Amino acid sequence: MTKSKTETFIDEAERYGAHNYHPLPIVIESGEGAWVTDVEGRRYLDCLSAYSAVNQGHRHPKIVAALKAQADRITLTSRAFHNDRMGGFLADLCRIAGAEMALPMNSGAEAVETALKAARKWGYEKRGIPPDEAEIVTVAENFHGRTISIVSFSTEDQYRRGFGPFTPGFRTVPFGDLAALRAAIGPRTVAFLAEPIQGEAGVMIPPAGYLAEAAALCRAAGVVTIWDEIQSGLGRTGKLFAYEHDGEGAKPDLLVLGKALSGGVYPVSAVVGRAEVLGVFRPGDHGSTYGGNPLASAVAQAALGVLVDEDLVGNSARLGRKLAEGLGAISSSLVKEIRVRGLWAGIELHESAGPARAYCLKLVERGVLAKDTRAQVIRLAPPLVIGENELEFLLTAVRAVLA
Ligand SMILES: *Cc1c(COP(=O)(O)O)cnc(C)c1O
Repeated sequence: MTKSKTETFIDEAERYGAHNYHPLPIVIESGEGAWVTDVEGRRYLDCLSAYSAVNQGHRHPKIVAALKAQADRITLTSRAFHNDRMGGFLADLCRIAGAEMALPMNSGAEAVETALKAARKWGYEKRGIPPDEAEIVTVAENFHGRTISIVSFSTEDQYRRGFGPFTPGFRTVPFGDLAALRAAIGPRTVAFLAEPIQGEAGVMIPPAGYLAEAAALCRAAGVVTIWDEIQSGLGRTGKLFAYEHDGEGAKPDLLVLGKALSGGVYPVSAVVGRAEVLGVFRPGDHGSTYGGNPLASAVAQAALGVLVDEDLVGNSARLGRKLAEGLGAISSSLVKEIRVRGLWAGIELHESAGPARAYCLKLVERGVLAKDTRAQVIRLAPPLVIGENELEFLLTAVRAVLA
């Protein structure tokens, strides 16, 4: 028996790669817009979008052009010197996000760490918290990345098991529970960190008004609000930022961005927000060799431009309504609950339906790539560039698989 191309590539990856992922068994070779092609020449509608990093679609021509042009000029200077690209990127980012200041990093986890460091230092300098006693409130079922400090406050057993000892100074409250938040805030609390919609937890949407009320509570208590919009931000939910569903009052002190910030072309993340908090960093306090490099800045500036120029937020809202209607019309005994915001859906299956992964494998057979999250949820997050036909293709596949 000769091995298929797919088997050959998978065997090689399994043989030499550490086994920290369990991918669906397809090997992608190329992509364009909302579609990818595997090594056997089969095409799929990408409904994961690299966890919303590819909101602008695969290889968006304007973003790829920015990458190529910048690669022919200069790619990395380090922050030991200035470069002629970072300022323009951060200016656009601050304007679009309504922020005073930004700090660029590379991965999402690094940006979350950056926000936590900023909040702690702010607490010591501006609130006079005794050294090493700052507390940060986080939310149960959170996902903020994989560093040791971040998994220190994860409530997912697998993310922590085997990785202690952990970083102290965190407390957890249930998502959506204002009374618990109020009770958790003490004299040493410096920050409240939350995802406006919890993606990895299964697209969990909090009660209306939760973020605005949490922000008000924190403001009154002198606590910095940090919204991690690495997955929910930049158009995914039909607004530029998911917190906007709760109005201007839900705006945080710090907003953490990543993933679609660079349209899937290069790793770029950032913390943006109030100068009073981000301004606590002084030269030498914090940094990253690649953070804010000219290639990253050129790519991210182009990726933000595409979001705005092509009104991807509007498309997400418009097609998101159709996605909600289409999914809402499905009646299946397998389904426990369907949650939709913009072009983002979590289809939660009953335990009796078995794990969601089996249904994702069936979607693959119908030309749709989606990934289960937690055991029982199929998550759908197509690129925001999809059209009506692609949405219909997705709904047809989902209907068939849940029938
Ligand atoms: C993906 C993600 C992160 C971590 O980003 P990485 O780039 O993988 O480090 C953090 N928070 C949220 C909400 C995410 O979805």
